[in-house]
Order: sequence, then C-alpha cells, then structure tokens
Amino acid sequence: MNKLNYIEKAENNLLHTYKRYQIILDKGEGVYLYDTEGKKYLDFAAGIAVFALGYNNKEYNDTLKAQLDKLIHTSNYYYNVPAIDAAKKLTTATGLDRVFFTNSGTESIEGAIKLAKKYAYNKDGSTDHEIISMNNSFHGRSMGALSVTGNSEYQKAFKPLIGGIKFAEFNNLESVKNLITEKTCAIIIEPVQGEGGIYPATAEFLQGVKDLCEVNDILLIFDEVQCGMGRTGSMFAFQQYGLKPDIMAVAKALGCGVPVGAFLANEKAAAAIAPGDHGTTYGGNPLVCAAVSKVFDLFESNDIVSHVNEISPYLEGELDKLIEKYSFIIERRGKGLMQGLEFSVPVGDIILKAQELGLIIITAGKNIIRLVPPLIITKEHVDEMIEKLKASIDLTI
Ligand SMILES: *Cc1c(COP(=O)(O)O)cnc(C)c1O
Repeated sequence: MNKLNYIEKAENNLLHTYKRYQIILDKGEGVYLYDTEGKKYLDFAAGIAVFALGYNNKEYNDTLKAQLDKLIHTSNYYYNVPAIDAAKKLTTATGLDRVFFTNSGTESIEGAIKLAKKYAYNKDGSTDHEIISMNNSFHGRSMGALSVTGNSEYQKAFKPLIGGIKFAEFNNLESVKNLITEKTCAIIIEPVQGEGGIYPATAEFLQGVKDLCEVNDILLIFDEVQCGMGRTGSMFAFQQYGLKPDIMAVAKALGCGVPVGAFLANEKAAAAIAPGDHGTTYGGNPLVCAAVSKVFDLFESNDIVSHVNEISPYLEGELDKLIEKYSFIIERRGKGLMQGLEFSVPVGDIILKAQELGLIIITAGKNIIRLVPPLIITKEHVDEMIEKLKASIDLTI
C-alpha cells in the first residue's frame, strides 16, 4: 500500500482527534526518524518530549526484549522485581517517599488530584475542597485532569467538570494568594509550562507558593510530566528551585517510549491513601517498569543531565541569534532542552516547510515553536536544526 492509501485508511478508521501531518513514520535511529518512503528527519520533538535517549538505543531495547520473553504483566495483586527497582530509583531521584505507577501523564494527574482530596477529606470529613491551578496550564484530557487544565477551549464542551477548581495567573503570587480559602487542599503547577507555550516559573513564584502551602497546610503538586527527567538540566525541574513538592506527576520521558507514568508523594501526603482508594490493572507492570529502571541506569551511565547542561547553552545561543536576525521572532523562553521560540506571526507553515526539509519540530501555545529534542543531541545536531529552521523561515515568510 502506498502512503496516500495508508492515510486514507487511517482517516477512515481513526477518531478525528488530530489534524495529523501527512507523514507516516516508520523507524528511528538516534535523533533521526525515517518515514515509510525512506525520507530522513532530524527530530527535535522526540515524540513530544518522550524519547529522551533517542531511538533504537540498544541497551534499552535489549532490556525490553529480555523482559518481554520473561513476563509482561502480573496485575498489582502481586509484586514484581522491575517495579520494585523502578520505584526505588524514582524515590531516590526525586527525594519523595512513595510511588504509584500509572499508564500516562493524565492518569498521574488523576492520582495526584485524588491523593490531595483524600488528604483533605481525612482532615475534616468533607468533600468540598478546592484546588488552585494556573491559567495556560496543561495537565491532560480526562475529566479530572481537564478540570485543572487552564484552557477554556479544551474545557468548554465537557462541563460540568469536577468542582472547586480555581485558576490563578502563573508567576503571579498575589493571584494565588487571593484564591486561597480554608477549603483549599492543593495547588498544582508545572514548574515549566509546556503545552501552554514554554513558560518557566520564576524562583520567587514557586518559593512564594511553597510558603503559602506550608502556612495553610495545602499540598503542593508539581506536574513534571513534560519538564521532568533531565530535560531542563536537572533530573527534575523543581530541583533547580531549592524546594520540594508534596506530590509530583511524571510520565513522558519516564519510560522513554513505553506507556508509563507515575505520581509520587512525600510520607505526609501518601499516608492519606489506604488500600481500596486507588488502583490500576496495567500500571507498574514488569515490562514498562523494566524500561523505567533501565532509563534511570542509562541516564546515570551516560551522564545525561550533565550533557543537557553542556549542550543547552549552545542551543540557547544559536536560538538567540535567530531573534537578532528575524524581527518577527519575539523571544526565546525555556530551560535546558525545553525551549520555545515565540513568533509574532503564525508558525504552521514554517513547521510544514521544515518537514519538507527533513526537520521535525512542533508547536506549543500560540505562534510558538517548541524544541524538545532527544537529550542526546550534539552541537552538530543543533547546527543542522538551525540551518533547516532558517531555511524554513526564509522560504515561508
Ligand atoms: C503531556 C502532558 C500531560 C498528559 O500526559 P499524557 O501522557 O498525554 O496523558 C500532563 N501534563 C503535562 C505537563 C504534559 O505535558
């Protein structure tokens, strides 16, 4: 079957939730992807910040193949060694105390919300607690995660959502303070907003929110689904701010390609959960946890976080040169290998042109090009990306 036949078949059978690019990806190698026609693409999207270690990593693949032949799934009625190891590596890496494995970022947020609600319920026996989230945030698409997602476009057709959710301005401490009541049980924040357009939190803001949480016995939830796992130059973004959340959601690069997420909590929050409060059939199965465990090992043996810190100033410098060159690029924002370039004009055509030239980039927010490459990129890859991006801009605008 040729490409157009495949696309027609896809459009006839898949739910129309995405306006997909007209590319059928077939295989990957390092930081390059190939489509079914053999065309090669430099990938600065990494499957939306997932493939941190690049494609076709032999050690990672071998680990998964071995686990595949051994045991894929057990249910959570029993223990399995990969999940035990992965949980220990996660608590060590985060400094939090307990892990619950999920199948996606959205489910990690669901779990985080439930944990916060149960903590508050245990205190006063009521269920009318409130959660403060941020405008312009993204936390997922299920009814709970959508309820805390600060995007009215995504929400409008699906009301009523869960009650008691209030939205503050990101990086505006006063606006958070103004929403706090004695019913507030949690504040949820992405330390670096991703989908919304790559906005890092300021240190004053996060510290201010942390202080408010401590004074008012409110649980602080960080959503590190996108900004976690080394992407910003520390294993988790919060570690650059000198403070810790009570609850944290992770996913995307956690398994580097297999569907796995997790939420973690400190002992104070975790103690609120009792057997029967939450569960999952697949979550934490041996296959995905073998991947998580191996990902942590490979991050360590390849010193991925140091590499991110070495390469990202170069990427930032090259992106800043584009701002000097093009008047319609307004600013660069980001941390480490999570960067956004905001344009004053739409970027859709630039992205299509880049694909033609063999570069995969994605958007975030409005008129923003998002760069979230595999964390193993080198200077040469940055140079190749910049060349292709410049050509795409010149041929489009
Ligand atoms: C992607 C994302 C989610 C949702 O994760 P899924 O795996 O798509 O369910 C939640 N929060 C943030 C910050 C994300 O970037």
